[in-house]
Amino acid sequence: MTRNAAIEVHNLVKSYRGGLLRKRFDALRGVSLQVEQGEIFGLLGPNGAGKTTLIKVLLGIVRRSGGSASLLGRPAGDRTGRMKVGYLPENLRIASHHTALTAMEYYGKLSGLPWSEIKSERLRLLESVGLADRSRESVKKFSKGMLQRLGLAQALLHDPELLILDEPTDGLDPVGRSHVRNVLMRLKEQGKTIFLNSHILQEVELICDRVAILDRGLVKAIGNVHELSAQQSEGVELELVVAASEASVRTALGEREITTCQPHRDGTYRVVLQITDQAAVDRCIDDLRASAISIVGLSRRRVTLEDTFLKLFAETPELIQGS
Ligand code: ATP
Repeated sequence: MTRNAAIEVHNLVKSYRGGLLRKRFDALRGVSLQVEQGEIFGLLGPNGAGKTTLIKVLLGIVRRSGGSASLLGRPAGDRTGRMKVGYLPENLRIASHHTALTAMEYYGKLSGLPWSEIKSERLRLLESVGLADRSRESVKKFSKGMLQRLGLAQALLHDPELLILDEPTDGLDPVGRSHVRNVLMRLKEQGKTIFLNSHILQEVELICDRVAILDRGLVKAIGNVHELSAQQSEGVELELVVAASEASVRTALGEREITTCQPHRDGTYRVVLQITDQAAVDRCIDDLRASAISIVGLSRRRVTLEDTFLKLFAETPELIQGS
């Protein structure tokens, strides 16, 4: 028997109607993607690209206008399929009379879990997200990051096969983020599938196997994080730290494409160059040395997911402002 993909989306369309004139707006304009079981898959895109809409269609929170979507082999929104899915919404609101423990009880019962199971799991899960010592406190006292971690714990309560997380590390401090990352990596080791929407590209790069980048309701790019970055980069980036004035560095480097030239507090300059190959690196060093410029540091810079993202949206910069 072939294993179903965890998520399969084909030509998905979602149109909203809004305003006085009930004007139609296509938030998803034909999205196709497949997430295999056991993957951590990242959904990226600027504000308004359609990420939350896609998640809502997958969960059956909003109805699709066209195309198809399935989760674990069941049509999106199907109740049986939903039982195997854990969901952390973008802004989970937990009623203020709850403590972390009672909130876990409430959400566990909503999922139809027996009390014995909730009781045995809730503290372990709160511990896994770093909230065990605050478990009896009112959620009124919780920071945004703590609420977010509580939200993740509740999403895990019924031991779902697939986790759908909308901005799971939003509002978390570095320790909180690391907690969440570790939890997600452990879940992957257990064979769970994780589909997450995030604006924190460094985070996505650290944990995701593959990503899809949405742009105005369409998939702009999809693939393995490192392959995508390689596709978008031409040659390598060379990062130099030189002891010289900016003017003398620019003169020595001539016509070369300098992407960054920043002064450091210690009087050196950090220079980033686009270079095609090793011979070009060698020529660059020869030219700097011929101008008696000291090279304090030199490294090849890896192209990051953020570089890839910025490059993909370079033609439409207004789209990424604020994302
Ligand atoms: P962000 O990164 O800002 O959270 P997103 O990629 O999640 O954005 P969506 O929230 O899916 O984007 O919104 C996609 C588009 O659909 C936006 O232009 C948004 O204004 C529009 N939209 C979302 N929900 C509705 C709705 N209920 N009615 C009308 N338009 C909507």
